[in-house]
Amino acid sequence: MPDAATLAALEKAVDANWDKQVSWLQSLVRFPSRRGKEGPCQDWIAREFAGRGWSVDRYTLADVQMDHLPGFSPVMDTDYSQAVQVVATVRAPEQTGRSLILQGHVDVVPEGPAEMWTHAPFDPVIKGEWMNGRGCHDMKQGVAAMVFAMDALRTAGLAPAADVYVQTVTEEECTGNGALSTLARGYRAEAALVPEPTAGQLSRAYVGVMWFRLRVRGVPVHVAVAQSGTNAIMSAYALLREIYELTEKINEDAKAHPWFKHMNHPVNFNPGIIRGGDWGSSTPAWCEVDCRIGLLPGTSLEAARQQILDTVARVAKSDAFMANNPPEVIWNGFQADGYVLEPGSDAEAVLRAAHQQVYGEPLKEHSSTGVADSRMYGLYYGIPGICYGPMGEGAHAFDERAHLPSLKKNTLAIAAFIADWCGTRPV
Ligand SMILES: [Zn+2]
Repeated sequence: MPDAATLAALEKAVDANWDKQVSWLQSLVRFPSRRGKEGPCQDWIAREFAGRGWSVDRYTLADVQMDHLPGFSPVMDTDYSQAVQVVATVRAPEQTGRSLILQGHVDVVPEGPAEMWTHAPFDPVIKGEWMNGRGCHDMKQGVAAMVFAMDALRTAGLAPAADVYVQTVTEEECTGNGALSTLARGYRAEAALVPEPTAGQLSRAYVGVMWFRLRVRGVPVHVAVAQSGTNAIMSAYALLREIYELTEKINEDAKAHPWFKHMNHPVNFNPGIIRGGDWGSSTPAWCEVDCRIGLLPGTSLEAARQQILDTVARVAKSDAFMANNPPEVIWNGFQADGYVLEPGSDAEAVLRAAHQQVYGEPLKEHSSTGVADSRMYGLYYGIPGICYGPMGEGAHAFDERAHLPSLKKNTLAIAAFIADWCGTRPV
């Protein structure tokens, strides 16, 4: 860990930059960077990085070939020429320390009906210790933490003694292809820190996630003679019920999983978007449901997909219409493996020491029932991928908010981690 004088200098620097950090986060939250609309946000960040003297690589996912790589998730109806990624390189003239990737995502999930928010979702308001807004917590505050951790070093008159890559990506909430693209483009380091909002804890294990679309047909007839047709929405409902049953069974098995046995219901299934039918008085001829289901680390995507296919086939076989008109399952979006950060890496040891130094208590850890980009580094590229970041509330919910004192403390802990992992040199 950094010596006491270095830590004190970093603490002073985080403090000196704090007002700027808060307004920087507000600016970031003002961009409604939903999927496909991240461009202006990323352009702003690219300018911010360039303004710090960092060398900036700004590109889109259409520029990168990666569909042959492990970890890639297929997409439909998405224009990757709009998916802007930013990688800033902060080079050290001499590599005396260890290199580092700092990576955050700027894509946010849809905010839902604005009237359900206490404050407008993209007009961040500060009340007491909290800042409200969509993406504030997941994970724009983490982006602010990593950028201002780097700023703290500079304000303290220091620079990392190894190359640091500061990356802001998209697609974290749907595929992970943004993170994968940085690796496809060749960026590598000896560790990767992803400051997702983990409430100052280490996320040890993540479930995997798969997205799929159920496409179901029906026979449209006048509802007056509904029995002579079939209803695609109700057929889809029968499929969904069975997939819920399957999920219960998977959660029973999870009770023996080394990293998830202590958790209640770690694997969750969600029909998230539904469309179907054309007319109130006709039985629906079609229905599509976009779904998400988790899988445990150790279960292959192939095996998990087969469970879904088998369930759909079994339900279809028991239905006179679906038996002859089988529903389709389209894998569209996340095909994300579960991931465990194996204990014992040097990067984790350095983080533990930095955390202890700043928080005055040992680093706690937990398992997560969602996914994060850290898997891309750890699973496929042999780079320890560590998720550790500030605290907030309401990810994907109304009135999402970031806890500012936690952000400040976490920024210092990340600065201390960078100083120790990369080493420092005077500037
Ligand atoms: Zn996130």
